[in-house]
Amino acid sequence: MPRMNPDPLAALQRQIVNCERCPRLRSYCERVAVEKKRAHRDEVYWGRPVAGFGDPSARLLIVGLAPAAHGANRTGRVFTGDSSGHFLMRALHRAGFANIPSSTHAADGLKLAGVYIAAAVRCAPPDNKPLPSEIEACLPFLAAELDLLSSVAVIVVLGRIAFDATLRVLANRGVSLRPRPAFGHGAVHALGPGLPTLVASYHPSRQNTNTGRLTEAMFDSIFTTALHIQGSRPTV
Ligand code: SF4
Repeated sequence: MPRMNPDPLAALQRQIVNCERCPRLRSYCERVAVEKKRAHRDEVYWGRPVAGFGDPSARLLIVGLAPAAHGANRTGRVFTGDSSGHFLMRALHRAGFANIPSSTHAADGLKLAGVYIAAAVRCAPPDNKPLPSEIEACLPFLAAELDLLSSVAVIVVLGRIAFDATLRVLANRGVSLRPRPAFGHGAVHALGPGLPTLVASYHPSRQNTNTGRLTEAMFDSIFTTALHIQGSRPTV
């Protein structure tokens, strides 16, 4: 009799970390990990694909774009070690999903409750722009996470690329997307009985947060909406 894997999410995370499907992204991440940024020259960069992170019982799934070259590609944890991660974690802390309002490194004591953070692409892309073929190659990981995170009621999608990737995953699972959900900050799309509700948000990139395109109040409203839809508050 075959042995059941006791922790399929951990097995998936190992599979992601060891993936080599996209040669352009793999060589870019490895090169960045060797060349480094001056501010982090004494650190050992992760340089591998970055798996999802959070609560396996999450009712909220957050889908980002991809690791940042000197953020998650350095620290090995999604949304960790850059300004986007801090912006996100401050919001998750205010909403009660995170025990601390920062995300600095993989051993910083951050704990998430009720939320799991994933991404459309798991390797840092040059200029934060993955190729369509690379997004396509990475989609099965998001699909597999969605399968394993069986309590998810709300998906907050950060940015248009993540939004389109999430729609692809849902369409591949046979979810009807007519009319096609439109992207816009704060847009809410109920997909039907028994299916998660999509909530779209601008990505908390430095470009968006420094210009005021995405403010903390705008970001807080996304998680207020998510909490309202899921109907329960996390306890971290
Ligand atoms: S982007 Fe995804 S599919 Fe491509 S190498 Fe990285 S983990 Fe693998």
